[in-house]
Amino acid sequence: MAIIDARTLPDASRIEADLMIIGGGMAGIALAKELAGGPLKVVILESGGLEIDMENQALYAGSGVQRAPGNPDRPFDDYPVQSRIRALGGSGMVWGGKCAPLDPADFAERAWIPHSGWPITREQMQPYYDRACDLLEIPRFPLERPKPAEPERQPLALDPADGFFPAPREFSRFSGGVDKTAFDAFRTQFADAPNITVYLQANVLKIRREGDRITGLDLACLSGKRHTAKAARYVLAVGGIENVRLLLASDSLGNREDLVGRFFQGHVTYSNDGDSQTEGSVVAVSRAAPMELYAPGKGRMAHCVIGAGLKAQTRMKTGNFTATLFRATPSGTETPVGADTQTIRQASGRVAGQDQAQLLGYFAMAEHFPNPDSRVTLDPEHKDPLGLPRVSLTWTYGEKDHADLELSVTGLADALGASGEGRMCWSIERSKLLALSSASRHHMGTTRMHADPKKGVVDPDLRLHEAKNLYVAGSSVFPTSGIANPTLTILALVMRLADHLKRETGAAR
Ligand SMILES: Cc1cc2nc3c(=O)[nH]c(=O)nc-3n(C[C@H](O)[C@H](O)[C@H](O)COP(=O)(O)OP(=O)(O)OC[C@H]3O[C@@H](n4cnc5c(N)ncnc54)[C@H](O)[C@@H]3O)c2cc1C
Repeated sequence: MAIIDARTLPDASRIEADLMIIGGGMAGIALAKELAGGPLKVVILESGGLEIDMENQALYAGSGVQRAPGNPDRPFDDYPVQSRIRALGGSGMVWGGKCAPLDPADFAERAWIPHSGWPITREQMQPYYDRACDLLEIPRFPLERPKPAEPERQPLALDPADGFFPAPREFSRFSGGVDKTAFDAFRTQFADAPNITVYLQANVLKIRREGDRITGLDLACLSGKRHTAKAARYVLAVGGIENVRLLLASDSLGNREDLVGRFFQGHVTYSNDGDSQTEGSVVAVSRAAPMELYAPGKGRMAHCVIGAGLKAQTRMKTGNFTATLFRATPSGTETPVGADTQTIRQASGRVAGQDQAQLLGYFAMAEHFPNPDSRVTLDPEHKDPLGLPRVSLTWTYGEKDHADLELSVTGLADALGASGEGRMCWSIERSKLLALSSASRHHMGTTRMHADPKKGVVDPDLRLHEAKNLYVAGSSVFPTSGIANPTLTILALVMRLADHLKRETGAAR
């Protein structure tokens, strides 16, 4: 119906709807799109405006630190602002558009990983992944992916018994940083539907509850106006860190078991991308042409992604892992960044068809295991201009996180070597891993999904265990983080939530 600036409403306005979506990022927008044109009156309450501005961005300021055993603490105070965008479209304004589903192994309960296991399987998620891919206009990710037809794009011939597999990624154009015009249409046109209204500059400060029902929301504009909002149902979709902030700031809503904000997960990363400290890390593979990975032409300098499937993880007792092989130089013929000639000789020796061997850099990413000490909390000493306590992030890696990164790299190196398809060099001390890691902007796990209210904040339908009419959308509901960039899974879960809401309200068309 409309996009309305909440600052233009008379002070103390009361906004009403059947469904109130808090947050107009990728999750909130995707949910509204699913319900557009239907019988439910849907409102999005979005803190930001149409463009990124620093006053709104500053509402995200907080503090942070990254921790890992044997590594010096890494201060991270800029991270809460730099890893998110507070405008209509949310971090979709800047995201890379890189998409991959979680692997079947990510949903499984793995005995060697405490707190692992989703209450849904990848098979059950498949139709929702398909719909999320359609929304983003990217090819779907079938469970059984056919091999590419082109002989030069065949994956490396690793022994299937080793359990490594090619893990393709796709890129969506719906990002403010990739195609602003396309993304502007994506994030605004749905509001033309007669049942949708989007309020901008509408900051939700508090979720009010009576017993097990949410009864309303308190809103504030930076201009000073205060409003309220009321609906039959609510969906909290303000991102993986902010979902925690709003729940905790609302008299610790959902936190009876002290789980809200715990289990924060990003990824464990390692990159030799031009960093002199990682000199010597290089991989040589037998193929010159980029293998099965990105849609042709979109791969930039990437060559292929190799993932560790459940078989590899079970064998090594590790978590999920990928290595993204990329050309360290644009032509691929020069010396990769950081590699000295001795390393290159070592790496390319005994690679099948040595004359064809391609020297590549690699970016390794391992699963960050669910850890109750890795958490988002509130800092009551510091408040934003609207009076909301700021967040404090303690991003904690355990011993197993870094150990598994090492084990996985070694496992892949062994698999490459045994097949004659490649050689891998890795020369990193454990004590340097934290300093070398690049922080993902993926905020997962802080309102985890579990059927048991003692073990999760939301149930398998994404409903808050403590409130019958509040749902949570976004990567905060992921019990484990896997390796894939999270947004495709966020959107797939939103599709599933939309179906649930339609059934529950009788709004199924
Ligand atoms: C630089 C960058 C690159 C990335 N690249 C990728 C990638 O390639 N692939 C990938 O999968 N992911 C990527 N991500 C992560 C991806 O952007 C997020 O997973 C995704 O955008 C999360 O969507 P969301 O709607 O759950 O949350 P958000 O995008 O955080 O949206 C939350 C919305 O809620 C609003 N809001 C916040 N607080 C309030 C409040 N109190 N009241 C009302 N509204 C509020 C915000 O303004 C925002 O619009 C990237 C992120 C960044 C920053």
